[in-house]
Amino acid sequence: VPAIELEGVRKDFVSRGEVVRAVKGISLSIAEGEFFSLLGPSGCGKTTTMRMIAGFEEPTSGTIRLHGMDVTDVPPNRRDVNMVFQSYALFPHMNVWENVAFGLKRKKVPEPEIRRRVGEMLEIVGLTGRERSRPRELSGGQQQRVALARALVNRPRALLLDEPLGALDLKLRQQMQLELKRIQREVGITFVYVTHDQSEALTMSDRIAVMNDGAVEQLADPREIYERPATAFVASFIGTSNLLSGQISAISGDVATVRLGDRGRVLLNGGGHRLGESVQITVRPEKIRILQGEPEGDVSAVPGVVSEVVYLGTYNSYAVTLDGGAEVTVFEQNAHDSTSTAERGDSVWLSWQPHHS
Ligand code: ADP
Ligand code: MG
Repeated sequence: VPAIELEGVRKDFVSRGEVVRAVKGISLSIAEGEFFSLLGPSGCGKTTTMRMIAGFEEPTSGTIRLHGMDVTDVPPNRRDVNMVFQSYALFPHMNVWENVAFGLKRKKVPEPEIRRRVGEMLEIVGLTGRERSRPRELSGGQQQRVALARALVNRPRALLLDEPLGALDLKLRQQMQLELKRIQREVGITFVYVTHDQSEALTMSDRIAVMNDGAVEQLADPREIYERPATAFVASFIGTSNLLSGQISAISGDVATVRLGDRGRVLLNGGGHRLGESVQITVRPEKIRILQGEPEGDVSAVPGVVSEVVYLGTYNSYAVTLDGGAEVTVFEQNAHDSTSTAERGDSVWLSWQPHHS
């Protein structure tokens, strides 16, 4: 039985006498334990779809089933899902422990069980030791972890996350992406994740529904979406990025290494990885440098052969074929005093900083 099913779900709003067709008949099915993303630009209907799954919004027509049960008319508090928002909405006057314990207390869960479950959950999100802190004493990332713990401590069968990392800066966001994946694996529940950030969706998701103007344009796994966009909209929205895959072969402190072929290595920042884990890596063409020799130090380094050079005025676009056959696109700025770096047929090394993938 799928964890979540939408069948012909539509939502019309009436706003100042005008009908807004926010969601135009979506049908999809999300498997138990899946990390599923709704990806699309602002205003395409992602939040409305999530709010209907959670029960905060009633569909104009269509059916929503959770674990096989029709919940279209069931109120939010009687659905086995929880939602996490971008604005964490923590109780400012309560400390971390009290924030996380709040829901269990209200449900009159026995005190020893509350202590055990809250302690366990704070450990999972990495906040052991911060029990007595107030939300304002925490960083944005830590506040988001509290919000996550508060939602997960109720043991929902599915967690809905609406742009939960939107308020964080890039580096922290990338770190939290890994954390979220790790936590999802650890608790083993279904995550439905809303984002407008394609690289976030590509790196985290088992499957992605790409939405545009209230409809799903493509529903597939990241590789398929990236390599075979079903519509012009999907192709342009996903944009140019490189998608590589490999396995974590070493972890040292905060940096994980992915071996690519015999000689290549990709370094990933942040905790949350485990040895042998399969990962999808995205790196944007303009973040990659083309070098004649193998770089040293803490950078990603992958050998390949230049298979194409396209001169595009202010920058060049290179296609570089890696040992394993994958093709990587690189954009390089054209400074007028520079002699062209690489030509077709050259053996080169591609290099980029860990925080760029
Ligand atoms: P997203 O989360 O993808 O940015 P939303 O689901 O928030 O998109 O919004 C989809 C569309 O529905 C937008 O055009 C938005 O203005 C409209 N909309 C959302 N909620 C309401 C509402 N309560 N009343 C009227 N229009 C709404
Ligand atoms: Mg939204």
